[in-house]
This record gives sequence, C-alpha cells and structure tokens, in this order.
Amino acid sequence: MSRDKGTMSFEDVKGQDEAIKFLKIAISSGKMAHAYIFAGPRGCGRSLLAKNFAKTINCEDSENAPCNSCRKIDKDIHPDVKWVRGDEKSGQIKIDQMRELQSRIALKSYEGKYKVCIIQNAEFMTIEAANSFLKTLEEPPANTLFILITEKPKDLLPTIASRCQMVRLKPLPEDRLTSTLADVLEEFSDEEYAEDYTAANRGELSEKLNVLASWYRDLMVFKSTNDGSLLAHRDRADEIRKKAMTYDIDSLMRIFESVLSAKEKIESNVNPKLALSAMFNQMKSRLTERSVSKSAD
Ligand SMILES: [Zn+2]
Repeated sequence: MSRDKGTMSFEDVKGQDEAIKFLKIAISSGKMAHAYIFAGPRGCGRSLLAKNFAKTINCEDSENAPCNSCRKIDKDIHPDVKWVRGDEKSGQIKIDQMRELQSRIALKSYEGKYKVCIIQNAEFMTIEAANSFLKTLEEPPANTLFILITEKPKDLLPTIASRCQMVRLKPLPEDRLTSTLADVLEEFSDEEYAEDYTAANRGELSEKLNVLASWYRDLMVFKSTNDGSLLAHRDRADEIRKKAMTYDIDSLMRIFESVLSAKEKIESNVNPKLALSAMFNQMKSRLTERSVSKSAD
C-alpha cells in the first residue's frame, strides 16, 4: 500500500512529529501493525492522532480532501470506525462492549478499506473485558486496526501490551498556543476529544474557550440581527448563517454563558474537567440534533 505522504492529514496533530513519522513509514512500507498503543498524557493529541490515522488508511481521495470517508470519520458516523469509551459513571470498559466490538469486526467492512477500533482509556478495561479483547488480539482479523489509547500503558494486561506496537506520545509543550477557530471547533465538537485537553495548562484551555465563546457570540449576533457585517468571524458568515438556523436564541445564549462560565472557572482554579463537564451538559441539553445522532450509535 503506497500513498503520497504530502497529502496525509497527520500534520494536524501538533507536537507529535516523531510518532507521525513512525506511523507514516509503517503505512507506506505496508508494515502496519494490527494493534497500536498510543501512550501519552491526556491533552497531547492522542484521540486526534488516532482519528487521523483512521482517516489516512481509509481515505478515498486524498487529492480532493475531505473525501466522503474522511468526512464520516470526522463526524463519528463512519460504519467501519468504532470508538470504545468507558462507562459514563465508572469509566470502565465492560465485557459487553468487547463482545459488541467482536461481533462488529466479524462482519465484512461496510465501506472502508480497514476497520478501525479505537479504545479510549484502554487501561480501564475490566479484567473480563481485557481477557475477551486478548482473544481478539491473539487472532487478529484481516484489515482491522486496533488503537488503544492510554496514559498508563503499564496498567494494561502484559499479554495485551505485548501484542501491540507501542507509540509513545509527548506531552504538549507549555508554550503551544495559537488556537485557531477551526482547531477549537473541531476539538470541542466532540466531548471526548475535548476531554483530552482537560489536563492542558489553564492558559491554553482558557484561550480556546475564549475562541469558542466568540463563535457562539457570532451565532447570537447573527440570529438576532441577520447582519453579517457585525460578525467577528466574517470569513465564515455562510457557515454562521446556516448554523444559527439550527438554534433558538435562548439556547445560544445559554451555551454562550456556559462557555464563559467554564472559562471563568478554569481561570479561578476549578478542576478543568468539572468546569468542562458542566459546559458540555449545558450544550448537550441544547443540542438536540447532536444528542439524537449520538444515541443512535
Ligand atoms: Zn479522505
């Protein structure tokens, strides 16, 4: 399998050049492992790297990005790319989830070249789930890639770890800043990705929330004035017009306030995870469209 290196989307993941280089060589030389462990602290881009890996190996047309497959992976609706996440309360990954995963990978892939299973916080597999997953790893199905994301690779079953290729990711440098609107919207479009940033330094998170607030401010402004010239992000007026139609003004106001409130909390030393989770709860209760598509997963 060969691919034009210049068109891969890996570069979106900042600060992980070594890991990206390593994965690119594996792909272009046709020596991709069946399973990888992405080991690194929260906030270093683990989920984004996994997502971009899935996009790269399933991309249908890297010349005309984003292709249909990449778009679906971005929206988390690609039938061959499965995210496994811990139970909301306990954080545990349970055996039922592994069984579901196994029945999914037993099926022929719907449309992708590869089935990709990304296991978030893989160290939280229960022992039953881990043993069940081990069986899958022992007889890896063809054209299936597993990515285990963890900050504690030592907490994985050694028999699992030994069957995976370890990729160690670096913590983000403290001075990594410059959040563009596009980056921020992508990161915060999925609670799980945003969760990866909870341990990032407060300054960075606060800056990102500021950018996010400016987006919702624009949606409110447009909703109430219909005037594109008043927008901070005038270059994205079309998108703002469309997006604004999907909310009522009250919802936008609540979301905007919740973003500002999260930003204030983070600046005043509240645990970033708590602050963000309050924000996401408020967003979720207002984002009916998204919650419907999530629960259909
Ligand atoms: Zn693509």
